[in-house]
Order: sequence, then C-alpha cells, then structure tokens
Amino acid sequence: MRGLRAVSSIVAVSSVYESAPVGGPEQGPYLNAVALIDTARPPAALLRNLLLIERARGRVRDTKWGPRTLDLDLLLYDRVSLDLPELTVPHPQIRNRRFVLDPLLEVWPDARMPDGSAVEPAVGTVAEQPLRRLEDEVLGAEAART
Ligand code: AMP
Repeated sequence: MRGLRAVSSIVAVSSVYESAPVGGPEQGPYLNAVALIDTARPPAALLRNLLLIERARGRVRDTKWGPRTLDLDLLLYDRVSLDLPELTVPHPQIRNRRFVLDPLLEVWPDARMPDGSAVEPAVGTVAEQPLRRLEDEVLGAEAART
C-alpha cells in the first residue's frame, strides 16, 4: 500500500478475500482486496501510477490470465464514466465478480455507478461464486511471520 499512499490518502481498505482463478492455466488461488482512496490525480494519471506500482512489485505480463504478483484495477472513480483505449471506468467486470463486489461494498456500501444505480443489488447475481473472507487473526499471524 506504500505506493498508493504516495498519490492518495487511503480512506479504507477491505478485508482480504481468497478466490479461485478465473480462466488461464492451472494456478493457485488469488487474494483480493479493495482500497477506497481520496486522490487529486485524474483517472488516467492514477492508472499510470497503478501500473508503476505493479511494476515496482515485480509484475511481469506473460501468460494471459496467468499467475500474477499483483494486479491493480481502477474500479470506480466518483461518478465518472470513461471509455479510452487504455482505460475503462467503471471497470467492466465490477458487477460480474464476487471477488470484486464483496470487498468493494465492504469499504463503500453505497457505491454507485455513473448512472446513479446502486452496485449492491449485483451481489445477488454472483452469490454462487465461491469466495472466502480471510479471518483477521490468520492475516495477523502471517504478518507477524514476515
Ligand atoms: P490487466 O493487468 O490484465 O488487468 O490489464 C491491465 C490493462 O488494462 C492496463 O494496461 C490498462 O490499460 C487496461 N485497463 C482498462 N481499464 C482499466 C481499469 N479500469 N483498471 C485497470 N486497468 C485497466
């Protein structure tokens, strides 16, 4: 989270959620979390920062949907709607993935799309996707070991 602090103030960070990989080769589970931030950076500049943070953490893009060290996505940016070659906001997968919705609503229960519609009702349509919220004690124990 150090990289994000350089470009924003962090309002809230969700729990960590473990999810099964979607597509791609045989690989281990993913850890997912959402941060709610306050930033003066416009969306495209923020995306560039996110990509730099990924790179600084050793992100290498090889196999599509393959294992990654870190994948940072810009989910929502106020009520902004953008469709640029390098950036789509809101992120197109928000309402389709439980591993996005659950942590997003944890930090921003009243999250809304640019048209004003609430994100929350989408939870019902992805409820069957397996997702495990890791217990705080487990994370605490892991942090103590590293
Ligand atoms: P990936 O790391 O595979 O999720 O893909 C990242 C690429 O998706 C970036 O290089 C961006 O140009 C593009 N992209 C488009 N919209 C978004 C978004 N909302 N958040 C993050 N990346 C995005």
